[in-house]
Amino acid sequence: MERLDAFMARANAAYYASHDPYADFTTAPEICQGFGEVLGLWAAVVWQMMGAPDPVILAEAGPGRGTLMQDALRAIARAAPSFRAALRLHLVETSPLLRRLQADRLPGAAWHDRIEQLPPGPLLLLANEFLDALPVRQFVRRGGGWTERYVQSGRFAEMPAAAPDLEAAEGEVVEVGAAARQVAAALGARLAAGGGAALVIDYGPERRAPGDSLQALRCRAPADPLAAPGEADLTAHVDFSAIAKAARAAGAAVQGPVPQGLFLARLGLPQRIDALARGQPPARAAALREAARRLTEPQAMGRLFKVLALCQGDLPEMPGFAAG
Ligand code: SAH
Repeated sequence: MERLDAFMARANAAYYASHDPYADFTTAPEICQGFGEVLGLWAAVVWQMMGAPDPVILAEAGPGRGTLMQDALRAIARAAPSFRAALRLHLVETSPLLRRLQADRLPGAAWHDRIEQLPPGPLLLLANEFLDALPVRQFVRRGGGWTERYVQSGRFAEMPAAAPDLEAAEGEVVEVGAAARQVAAALGARLAAGGGAALVIDYGPERRAPGDSLQALRCRAPADPLAAPGEADLTAHVDFSAIAKAARAAGAAVQGPVPQGLFLARLGLPQRIDALARGQPPARAAALREAARRLTEPQAMGRLFKVLALCQGDLPEMPGFAAG
């Protein structure tokens, strides 16, 4: 019998070590090159707001194939060469398989297993669909008390547990993303001390309601999360209010969360895609616009996905977070 978070950590480590995850799911940077480009430009503007420290660490957590960072660096090199010269590229990635793919696209990067291992100093960090892969615990309200979910032979088992500070109706599941909170606390502490900002993009509600959001994707279709550990990608919704609280408690400031669609519109993604589409053959132009729509439209990824920034205390509102 294994506690759910231990099961999820083991299953995902095995999965990412042995699979190309993009056979099972796709992500914003794989859909649209403009996503990484505008995030790169976001980082360049925030670097200016920080006082243009040189050197500065530009990091990504869970870079997948390296697509987002490759697009970001291309845009940065063109629009902000002094930021390009000042930045040192660091990637946080545990999968040896994905590290190899990233190395092909991002020569000169340094790799780390954990965010806590990034070298000290001013930091700009991007994390798209990273926190959702981190393990969660699940508690169930039973008879006025709590049980916690374990996994035994491909099924859930429950053991009595202490779960202070949670609220739910009888029989409801409450998730606690302890690993994501720990990442937020570690980032919050170092941003408060060394300066910088971390942009977290993921799916989940602004405020966590009780419920089981654990899901598995295999070959682009939902699968039983407990059935075949290591063969499917396991994720859970990110609790943005808990992330913000953990970062604040560690001394950092927080901006957002704002829905991804609004954030990307404020960063000018639609205009950038229009500029790219101009002069392309009609089919290619239509495909570019369709890709951008997938990221921004509320019914697609525009609303469920949220953007939250953790940052040093004295930064004004960063691009994408200011209204107007
Ligand atoms: N950001 C990418 C990939 C998302 S998939 C994109 O948007 O396409 C999740 C990524 O996080 C993968 O690169 C995976 O190997 C990495 N990852 C998952 N769990 C991790 C952990 N505990 N520590 C470090 N990296 C992890």
